[in-house]
Amino acid sequence: MSKVLSIENLHVAIDGKEILKGVDLTLRQGEVHALMGPNGSGKSTLSYALMGHPNYEVTEGSATLDGIDLLGLEPDERAKAGLFLAFQYPTSIPGVTVANFLRHAVTNVRNPERKEGHELIPMREFRKELRQEMDELGMDPEFARRYLNEGFSGGEKKRAEVLQLALLKPAFAILDETDSGLDIDAVRVVSEGVNRVAARAGMGVLVITHYQRILTYIKPQFVHILLGGKVVESGGSELVDALEREGYDWVRAKYPDAAKDEEELEQRTASGQLTF
Ligand code: ADP
Ligand code: MG
Repeated sequence: MSKVLSIENLHVAIDGKEILKGVDLTLRQGEVHALMGPNGSGKSTLSYALMGHPNYEVTEGSATLDGIDLLGLEPDERAKAGLFLAFQYPTSIPGVTVANFLRHAVTNVRNPERKEGHELIPMREFRKELRQEMDELGMDPEFARRYLNEGFSGGEKKRAEVLQLALLKPAFAILDETDSGLDIDAVRVVSEGVNRVAARAGMGVLVITHYQRILTYIKPQFVHILLGGKVVESGGSELVDALEREGYDWVRAKYPDAAKDEEELEQRTASGQLTF
């Protein structure tokens, strides 16, 4: 049965300032969606809010996964419910190896009832699975012994995320600017990994990007444009082509209210009023 991720009229504020102003999005498992928008339009705000980052306050609206209210759940419970988020800027965890991190993450998602300190999935079983996935992704087995994200190149960070995706098999994956900082070969390798893993597990994927490049490798069936904290256009791949040809100016001209909201946000950012 295919699950549904449903975002309705979502408003999100940072420091009391409204960034998202009523976002609606519906994803079904097996579908690939792209969320595009210029820098500062609120793309990352949406992904942080969906993951439950404490600084992103949902002031209105709802987000449900197969009817389960995500917004009432802790971040780890959201992951157990089937949501995976690849951040634009993943943090490093010195002292925790990739293998160790993944073993914990996989155990927690597969055994939602597990309490801290309870047994992890058996090492032998996990190692086998890990090796197999790394092999499929063309990764050096040594990589699993490194500390998570410490000193990783852009490409290595993203590959570590695809590996996580392959092992966790979430119902929905949100990939925020997965191509940022990658050279063209790395974009291709990572995209192919995402495509393979997503197709195999029947995932719903939301690719967040301001730039069309990654969408030549991960082909979306549905494309949405975010401007000034609102989804102003939804359609198919023709929207990607239009943005590639003409940039975002036609979107601003077509939606002057959203363009005005965008300008206001930019001014606040520029004058340093919005900082943690
Ligand atoms: P995008 O990912 O589309 O580039 P963001 O969601 O990162 O946009 O940012 C949307 C707006 O929210 C911007 O005006 C940005 O300055 C502001 N913003 C986002 N995160 C923070 C933060 N941690 N502190 C202050 N302002 C923020
Ligand atoms: Mg962003």
